[in-house]
Amino acid sequence: MPSAYEQLLERYQEVHAVRSVVQLLECDLQTFMPPQGAGYRSTQIGVVAAVAHQKLVSPELAELLQQAEVQSDRSDPAVATNLREIRRDRDRAAKVPTALVQQIASATALAVEAWKVARAQSDFAHLAPHLEHLLDLERQVAEHLGWQTEPYDALIDQYEPDARAADIQQLFESLKRELVPLVSAITSARRQPNTALLQMPAPIEKQTAFNHTVAAAMGFDFNAGRMDVSMHPFCAGLCPGDVRMTTRYEERAPAVSLFSVMHETGHGLYEQGLDPAHTGTPLGDVVSLGIHESQSRLWENMVGRSRPFWQYFYPKFQAEFSAWRDVSLEDWLFAINAVQPSFIRVDADEVTYGLHVMLRFDLERQMLSGSLAVKDLPEAWNEGLRQLLGITPPSDAEGCLQDVHWSAGLWGYFPTYTLGNLYAAQFFAAANQAIPDLDERIARGDLRTLLDWLRANIHRHGKRYRAPELVELVTGQPLSPQPYIEYLKRKYRSLYGL
Ligand code: ZN
Repeated sequence: MPSAYEQLLERYQEVHAVRSVVQLLECDLQTFMPPQGAGYRSTQIGVVAAVAHQKLVSPELAELLQQAEVQSDRSDPAVATNLREIRRDRDRAAKVPTALVQQIASATALAVEAWKVARAQSDFAHLAPHLEHLLDLERQVAEHLGWQTEPYDALIDQYEPDARAADIQQLFESLKRELVPLVSAITSARRQPNTALLQMPAPIEKQTAFNHTVAAAMGFDFNAGRMDVSMHPFCAGLCPGDVRMTTRYEERAPAVSLFSVMHETGHGLYEQGLDPAHTGTPLGDVVSLGIHESQSRLWENMVGRSRPFWQYFYPKFQAEFSAWRDVSLEDWLFAINAVQPSFIRVDADEVTYGLHVMLRFDLERQMLSGSLAVKDLPEAWNEGLRQLLGITPPSDAEGCLQDVHWSAGLWGYFPTYTLGNLYAAQFFAAANQAIPDLDERIARGDLRTLLDWLRANIHRHGKRYRAPELVELVTGQPLSPQPYIEYLKRKYRSLYGL
């Protein structure tokens, strides 16, 4: 007779299997599904997602969980991790009434459609009633989940367990104090990059081949994953042996596609690096969205936009793309690291990106607490952007209507992007200490040493440690904005001659 713990794991692995089917349906929706399949696909996703939810909150699973908690030996870290995280997952799912989940699903479906129209016509009034309704539903979710200091904490906890709005605000404040002056020093510097070098002809077949070469050099296993094309690049790990990622191509912007590939490959390597012996259990799952984003940002920016990386890859790039034959490595490095205050977050550079996220964090927190009315969002947005970046969007389409997150019900999600950058810088500094010749290795095209370090120190642990604990374990320090600030200052002072 298998123990309660063994039976529990079996049940929980079924939940994971059904969830991964939802992911597969979503991947296919974004890559290969014919347009007329959309209606039935949403039915399929709804039905399968409901099956996963029912399995998770079933009385049988609750009973086994309770028994396992009493009977199992928690001195075994695997057991302790799995029980802790299954308890969390199950309780959170059980706390929010099914009727509310369904209400949110249909409200977000309508809001996303309204958002498309509102953005196309730059008409905020068209979206406002939907946001008000969603905000009301999100407040209810927060009440059901429970919180100690403010409702925002309940929402961010869904994406970044143990994160608290007050701590994030502190981190962001110290980041802001450094970033705002850095941006203004950069924009007024005499030396400026020639960004026209980013916009030259590069045949898409050659881009595809080059991107594959880089992803493989990073260690992505194409026998355990795919890279396809979609409108919005993403990465979805169904299991370590099946990781789906996508990119998009522009004929005259190979760097856009390459960096998006390095970003998604960073996510993909994390998924491929999870321990396959624990697939379907928390020990075989990722820590949080912020830790996931740290892996993508580390590869995209700290490696992909670095001198050592291009010392090795630039001659290969020039051999493929003749338009760059006479462009020097220095000019190329400067162009791919250009800093420019801009309106659109997804196009923002490394230095201004965090400021975009801060604005969203402040505004969504104020809306949730009721201190900012939805109708006043456009004005608050424009004023906030002016203070942070000194620019004002010409329209709401390029302002508060640019992101789909709030319409899609993703409240409390934005900070994970910046947390990802902070974790990335702290991990990368630790990797450089552990591997003193890391730069030289990367300059020789050896990216595997870094991957092996990430595998051993981060990927293999699954959910054994929560993010704050993991950061401390890997770097010897609690999370701090300092490594990120130092990284940016060092890099951009040298590039811009400050
Ligand atoms: Zn990402």
